[in-house]
Amino acid sequence: MISGAGPEIHGYTEWGSQKPELPSRVINSWGIFPTIIGETRLQKPNTLICAGYTWEGIGYLYEKEAASINYAAKNDKQLTDSIISYFTQNKPYFTFIAFAEPDGAGHGNGWESDKYFNTCKEIDSYVGQIIATVDKTGLRDNTIIIFTADHGGKGKGHGGKSMNEMQIPFVITGKGIKKGYKIEESVMQFDCAATIAHIMKITPPQAWIGRPVLSVFGK
Ligand SMILES: [Zn+2]
Repeated sequence: MISGAGPEIHGYTEWGSQKPELPSRVINSWGIFPTIIGETRLQKPNTLICAGYTWEGIGYLYEKEAASINYAAKNDKQLTDSIISYFTQNKPYFTFIAFAEPDGAGHGNGWESDKYFNTCKEIDSYVGQIIATVDKTGLRDNTIIIFTADHGGKGKGHGGKSMNEMQIPFVITGKGIKKGYKIEESVMQFDCAATIAHIMKITPPQAWIGRPVLSVFGK
């Protein structure tokens, strides 16, 4: 999602990995495999970058110090409120938000349970609040929003070999993005970071294998 490469390349292979179990193919100045957050800092040094998550496991996977501000929130509502507050005051160039509660509901009550879908509805409302904030700041016409996930689920788990566990949404909207267009080409999780890099005119690190989802751009 943010690394532009798969586990055999970035090296994080376990749930909750705090260090890569396999050697990261390359290491940057923050001592980890380069993500879109570190690359944005390196190639656009004066931009404001806002990042945040609810599940602390995410915090080991990117260059937290490269962000202008980084939120480790107690829950997804607090995360939303923090991001909205920072966004309104600072209008950051790039914002990364990692919600966690649908994953918790999936593990606790099962994917496709009422609890899971209700939690997804809450996330929908948080996303709505964030988009309303982008509107209020007057940045909507100059913003691209990507909504995606890092995995699906089955029963009360994930990580197995079923499409329900492996398939994820990839939704993109905003400036220069086709409307009402269904992506027909193959999109992999590592293409997300490459697509963000393409949008921000950032040269992807050589070790990334992701490719930008080019078909989404245009009228
Ligand atoms: Zn999980």
